[in-house]
Amino acid sequence: MADSTADRIERTDAEWREALTDEQYRVLREKGTERAFSSEDDAARGTGMYLCAGCGAELFDAEHKFDSGTGWPSFTQTAGSDAVEEETDRTLGMARTEVHCRRCGGHLGHVFPDGPAPTGLRYCINSVSLKREAATDEG
Ligand code: FE
Repeated sequence: MADSTADRIERTDAEWREALTDEQYRVLREKGTERAFSSEDDAARGTGMYLCAGCGAELFDAEHKFDSGTGWPSFTQTAGSDAVEEETDRTLGMARTEVHCRRCGGHLGHVFPDGPAPTGLRYCINSVSLKREAATDEG
């Protein structure tokens, strides 16, 4: 396994502003939250990977996606044990667990302990923080 810090991406604020749309910047770099049901993809199923909109890291597999009814893309687990990092978020007068991309630090959303089996987790993710990698067929 590679050193978990070896591939981290560091960009200046100006570079992120250049690389991201205004909404991506607000969510990924300022820990904003998009409006619920802002993406038609929130409840979509299918196959393929969801990549970080900031750096392209593989974050979630569509196979772990479920329709939570919340209006945000929801997953029961991450694509790999080191895809995301967690941090306690005490804004809004409560303690929630914030999740961000390990590689670039981009804010993704939160994880809650009220998800379905087998993990019991619900990763509630802003769709603007993700980009869908289309499933590819052999040949
Ligand atoms: Fe990232």
